[in-house]
Formats: sequence, C-alpha cells, structure tokens
Amino acid sequence: MDLSYPADAEAFRAEIRAWLEENLPAGWFEPGFEMTADERKQFNEDWPTKLYGGGWICAAWPADYGGKGLSIMQNVVLAEEFARAKAPLRADFFGDTLVGPTILQWGTDEQKHEYLPKILRGETRWCQGFSEPDSGSDLASLKTSAVLDGDEWVITGQKVWTTQAQFADYIFLLARTDPDATKHKGISYLLVPMKQGGIEVRPITQPDGTAEFNEVFFDGARCPRENVVGGLNNGWVVANTTLAHERGMSATTSYRRFEEELRLMTEAARANGAIDDALVRQGLARYYSKIQILKANGLRSLTATLNKTKDPGVAALGASNKMFWSEMHRDALELALTIAGADSMLVTAGPPSGSWPGVARQKGRAGYPVTPMISAFFFSRSETIWGGTAEIQRNIVGERVLGLPKEPQVSSA
Ligand SMILES: Cc1cc2nc3c(=O)[nH]c(=O)nc-3n(C[C@H](O)[C@H](O)[C@H](O)COP(=O)(O)OP(=O)(O)OC[C@H]3O[C@@H](n4cnc5c(N)ncnc54)[C@H](O)[C@@H]3O)c2cc1C
Repeated sequence: MDLSYPADAEAFRAEIRAWLEENLPAGWFEPGFEMTADERKQFNEDWPTKLYGGGWICAAWPADYGGKGLSIMQNVVLAEEFARAKAPLRADFFGDTLVGPTILQWGTDEQKHEYLPKILRGETRWCQGFSEPDSGSDLASLKTSAVLDGDEWVITGQKVWTTQAQFADYIFLLARTDPDATKHKGISYLLVPMKQGGIEVRPITQPDGTAEFNEVFFDGARCPRENVVGGLNNGWVVANTTLAHERGMSATTSYRRFEEELRLMTEAARANGAIDDALVRQGLARYYSKIQILKANGLRSLTATLNKTKDPGVAALGASNKMFWSEMHRDALELALTIAGADSMLVTAGPPSGSWPGVARQKGRAGYPVTPMISAFFFSRSETIWGGTAEIQRNIVGERVLGLPKEPQVSSA
C-alpha cells in the first residue's frame, strides 16, 4: 500500500499550513496552550470571518457559488491540516454539511444562487426538521403537512429534537404534500424561514441545563411555492442525500479526535495507576485497534473514490461507518469513566481536567458545571441515535448492502 500523496497535494498542504500558522492565535501549536473563557469566546466570534477570508468554508463548492472548487484530494488535505492543527473548519454544521451539499445536488439554479453563498459566508444558520414525536426511525410515517395556498405552502404539524432551532434562520423540512400517496412518495423537502408567526420553538432542557434541541410547532407557517428542493413529492429521495452526509464522516480525518482522546485517557490511566488494571489496558488496546481500523477504512474509501472504482466492500464500509465509530466511541467514553474511577462522580473533577477533543457544548446549568470529559461522555450516548440509530444502520447494511431478506413489517391494522 502506497500512502504517499501526490506532489501537488503536498504543495497545497504547505499553503494551508502557512495560512493556519499565520491566522491561529499565537502559541496555538505549543504544548499546554489554553485560552481563557473570554479569549475562547472572541476566537469563536472571529474565526468564521477569518475562514471565509481564506476561502476555506465549503471550499470544495464550485466557484460560481463562492467556493474554491477544490478537487477531492485537495479537500482531503484541507481537512487533514485543519484536523492536525485542531482548528475548526465550519461555520454552521447544518448549513455547511447537510443542507448545502443537498442543495448543490438537487437545487435549482435560483436556489443555489440564493442559499449557497449565504451559507458559505456564514450569514444564515439552519436546522433540520425531519423527526416528529411518532416518526423517528420510521421517518417516512411523518405527518406534518404542507398545503398550497396560491403561491405559498402552508405548513401544519410538529417536529422534535430539532437541534439549534432556537438560533436558526431557516429549517429544511420534510412535509407531506400528497396525503393520498404511499408513505415514501407523498413527501416534499421544503426550505422554510424560521423567523415568522406560525412557528413556535420550545427548547427541551436536559439534566445538565443545556437546551441544544427543541420542539418546533407549525401552525399556518408559510414558505414560497418554489422552495421545494428536488421536485414535488420527491422529498424522500432528497432527504436520503442529507442523511448520507450526516452519516458520513470525513474519511481520512475523523480518527484524529479519537486518537487524541486515547492519548488523554492513557495519560490519565498512567497518572492515577488505573493502567495497572489488565482490563483497562485491554480496553485501551481495543480502542487503539478500532481507531486503526477506522483509519485504514478511511484510506480505502478515499482510494476507491479517487480511482472511481465500484467496490462492494467499500460500499459496505460506508453504510457501517456511522454504526462502527459511534459504538466504538460510546464504549471508549465508558472506559474513560472507569479510568477516572470515583472521580467521575464529581462533575468538576476527573482526569483530564483540561481540553477534550470534539466538545463544544453550551454552558450548562449554573451549579452543575461538567468537565469536558463528562460532557463528551454524555454526548457519546446520543451518537448511536442521531442521524439514524445503530440498529437502523444494521438494517441498512443487512438489507441494502448484503441483500438479506427484509425485516418483517408489523401491520398497523
Ligand atoms: C443529540 C440528538 C440530536 C438530534 N437532532 C435532530 C435534528 O436536528 N433534527 C431531527 O429531525 N432529528 C434530530 N434527532 C432525532 C433523531 O434523528 C432520532 O432520535 C432518531 O432518528 C431515532 O428516532 P426516535 O428517537 O424517534 O427513536 P425510535 O425510532 O422510537 O426508536 C427507539 C428504539 O427502537 C429501535 N428501533 C426502531 N425501529 C427499529 C427497527 N425497525 N429495527 C430495529 N430497531 C428499531 C431504535 O434503534 C431505538 O433504539 C436528534 C437526536 C439526538 C439524540
């Protein structure tokens, strides 16, 4: 296996590295670098503008919509360098990663020119209106309806678990537009402005005091008739594009944050003596091995994409990826608690006390401060659920990739 990158990719790497060194705060690359809460807040406010200035937000998008039109290889190198530097590469997860690529694939020219540049400039924030109280895994059973009234859709119904809805300017929403069609056929994918009468957002407060997701109620909310993406009643197919982006993870970089976690956990185990426990050592070795599998699978997927080969093994990797990393990560964070031992019951203690990769949660309830590690532990419990549960991913691998018989459908009659 040749793991070296072409010379032009390495030249591009040097360009990004130089930009990062110039633009990240002084000392960022040095061991032990930390920011105060105020410095972190300032950094979070300034960074999207710098990213936009460098042209790095959604840099793979075509220049027509403000992107740089990067090749697959350049995009991989870009993600690798940002991951290596532990620098954020996003303005708005739902815009950059989910609805943006969906509009790129399915949107009309007008939709692309209207929405993509604003996502890229970090001017609009988005949320995802798929799940409903009785429609999660069985998403196609959703009931929220949209009915045409002249040139506008009028929307009635309820969504739930809508992350960031309280901050969003737009929601990409699945609604039933043909009540007489079979359940997968009568759904459309709508782009709906959030700041209007007829939409009520109720935050769902979690035990630690954070309220990242919400219930969203629609009672006569409106959007223009032309805000359907990918054709009327074709929403199921379009939604699957969004879900594929949600379930995918940057093939060659996603393992890096897990490597950093493993390093912190090993350091903590050495410091408090937990490393003397054979089960802890086995757990760390298991985590290490799975990270290596993730890394090798990422490179295999990249090779297949670059060579445009249709490898059934690679298709299976894509489908099982979300299930694999989310279950691996859930187990790893349980191990982190085992290593911390009784300290993990103290929400303000527990090694390591400093930074923990991938944690960017809101401040929790006053009097309930959680360490980054505990916060990562809480969030790891949700990773096997959002974007399609691990059980549903297993069904997809079994039925769509391996061609096994479909699971028996329970009749609702
Ligand atoms: C942190 C977080 C953020 C989220 N953000 C959003 C968001 O922004 N927008 C949005 O639309 N949704 C969001 N969701 C919702 C998420 O998509 C759903 O929770 C998920 O699809 C599961 O649906 P459910 O919660 O209704 O569970 P259910 O579908 O009721 O499932 C309950 C259990 O039954 C199992 N199960 C169900 N059907 C089957 C089957 N056929 N075979 C085997 N097992 C089955 C499931 O695996 C699960 O264990 C978020 C969820 C979380 C945890």
